[in-house]
Amino acid sequence: MKRPSTFGLMFLVLFLFACGKQGETVEANKPTEDFEVRVDRFADLEILRYQVPQFEKLSLRQKKFVYFLSQAALSGRDILYDQNYKYNLIIRQTIHTIVEGYKGDRSTEPWKQFMIYAKRVWFSNGIHHHYSTLKIIPQFKKSYLSELINSTDGEFPLKNGEKMGEFIEWLTPTLFDPEIDGKRVNLNPQDDIISTSANNYYQGVTQDEVDMFYSNMKDPDDPEPIWYGLNSRLVKEQEIVEKVWKSGGLYGNAIDQIVMWLGKAKEVAENDAQRKELEILIEYFQTGDLRTWDKYNMAWVKNTKIDIDYINGFIEVYGDPKGIKASYESVVEINDFEATARMKTLSDNGQWFEDNAPIMDIHKRETVRGITYNVVSVAILGGDVSPYSPIGINLPNSDWIRSNYGSKSVSLSNITTAYDEARSGGFVEEFGYTDEEKARLKKYGSFAGKIHTAMHEVLGHASGKLEAGVGTPKETLKSYASTIEEGRADLFGLYYIMDPKLVEMGLVESDEIGKAEYDGYIKNGLMLQLRRLQPGEEIEESHMRNRAYISHWTYEKGRKDNVIEKKVRDKKTYFVVNDYEALRQLFGELLQEVQRIKSQGDYKAAKELVENYGVKVDKKLHEEVLERSKVLNIAPYAGFMNPHYKPVTNENNEITDIVITYSDDFVEQMLYYDKYYSFLPLENN
Ligand code: ZN
Repeated sequence: MKRPSTFGLMFLVLFLFACGKQGETVEANKPTEDFEVRVDRFADLEILRYQVPQFEKLSLRQKKFVYFLSQAALSGRDILYDQNYKYNLIIRQTIHTIVEGYKGDRSTEPWKQFMIYAKRVWFSNGIHHHYSTLKIIPQFKKSYLSELINSTDGEFPLKNGEKMGEFIEWLTPTLFDPEIDGKRVNLNPQDDIISTSANNYYQGVTQDEVDMFYSNMKDPDDPEPIWYGLNSRLVKEQEIVEKVWKSGGLYGNAIDQIVMWLGKAKEVAENDAQRKELEILIEYFQTGDLRTWDKYNMAWVKNTKIDIDYINGFIEVYGDPKGIKASYESVVEINDFEATARMKTLSDNGQWFEDNAPIMDIHKRETVRGITYNVVSVAILGGDVSPYSPIGINLPNSDWIRSNYGSKSVSLSNITTAYDEARSGGFVEEFGYTDEEKARLKKYGSFAGKIHTAMHEVLGHASGKLEAGVGTPKETLKSYASTIEEGRADLFGLYYIMDPKLVEMGLVESDEIGKAEYDGYIKNGLMLQLRRLQPGEEIEESHMRNRAYISHWTYEKGRKDNVIEKKVRDKKTYFVVNDYEALRQLFGELLQEVQRIKSQGDYKAAKELVENYGVKVDKKLHEEVLERSKVLNIAPYAGFMNPHYKPVTNENNEITDIVITYSDDFVEQMLYYDKYYSFLPLENN
């Protein structure tokens, strides 16, 4: 199974030093300058907004398609809350009623704490932290909870015949006691990971019973194995049964809404293949049949000649400690035409880059084909990618579909831009040395990061070849294979981002973009990325290692010519690039060596490079980085508000336009979603 969030993280790390606004002439789809990305900050979270500049350029038919798919995406919101924990919908309803109807003083500290708690629950789609999956404990007193409920006008989700006092008595420990359903996903191998996890994928069954139930289902000889259990809750009644999520089944009311909107979308689909594919998806939601789900994925993955694509279904399995059952998730994506054109320019010129690469001739490919990689703008996020979103997604998850039919890999461009803008400004100010360098990073950093990533993905990984008789890097370089490969792709991009050829091809306006990338990359690799480590830790993650060995190696090799200089000002350490052209030559030299290591399978050299330059942490510098980062108060996690799509209709009730607006009030959007996309009944709990 492929993990999109890992893919996402990789980009996230890569972009962390990049910054802010795009170059004026380079990016046609650039967001408006005065758009405020950051809208809210609380606990360990930040709420951002993303723009969809492509939406305005769509035809009415395409706008309708996006709108219908976005409604389908939002219609599954309740499903995720219920999947995460059986009482989440009741709790969310309670919070909603209080936020709307509390008559007491809203300026007090306890109220502020209550609102922080409310926002955290909305952010996590339930009462467990979205990342650690531990129960979020409210930071107000238990007695305040009953005060809130008793001073609120509105309906609370009481069970039949339940008194308010009983409701509060039940609710209080459910919210406050970390011992009751304290962890959503418990992976501790000492425990029965099913019965000790608070998620709602299983009821009354043990880990052994789950293993038994699904191993009995599997046919080991099936070359196209079904992902049994993907779309159901496993429940012990008289016997153990699956309650399937489908029309007429569990979550049927929400699924019917999804189906209704998908039906409308189907009418305005981009082409016949997409229409057919949506038909299969609808059939799957109606029947819950997992062979139909596979059939759908095969159709979806082949359908590439479209401007608008989407994900809608039960997709990722991180919420289930057994990795069987999938949470509801949906994304609607619009092709980022400008970035896609950029990709095409790169892959069209793939042979030129290969022929001119500073690597040994015997390691060059005679014919090189760039990898297909799509850059899209997100139009809506729903279910398990909302508000917390990855920045890249690679699907489907089924291995045999991936190898027989392929997969789709997308980079979420507008989400990345928003992350960059929100997170990097502070870092640039703090770790940049000269005003010139800071200004350049602010102006070009984000764009430079995107160009570098594109070259890494489209050209870097596709470049070079092994010498005859040499085994795969996994066989020869073993645990160093991945960091060697990622470093190789990074170096390919670093070497070429300063090449005049890029200006000639119209990809960048000047070498300022390359300089911004060099400044950002070196600072990140030599110090900034250390803030992700705890004191005493060494570097382990392969992308972090590759950035470290590239930066430390070039720093050391360039020392006699002062290519990169370490400076100290007011007791703060800075790394400053003095000679960009010389640094480029060093990147080229290292690229040749790393390519040689891969092509010859030189384990000893791989080990020496990584262990000497990519693992160790300078303790004092690490402390300094942690200190300086802490002051910047950048939230560990950021999530996103969605834009709002509003249809304009004429007197015959026909849609004549869809208007996109951007709210900047997170609470308002959550209340709106609670109100208009609540389709599941509460009574079954
Ligand atoms: Zn890579």
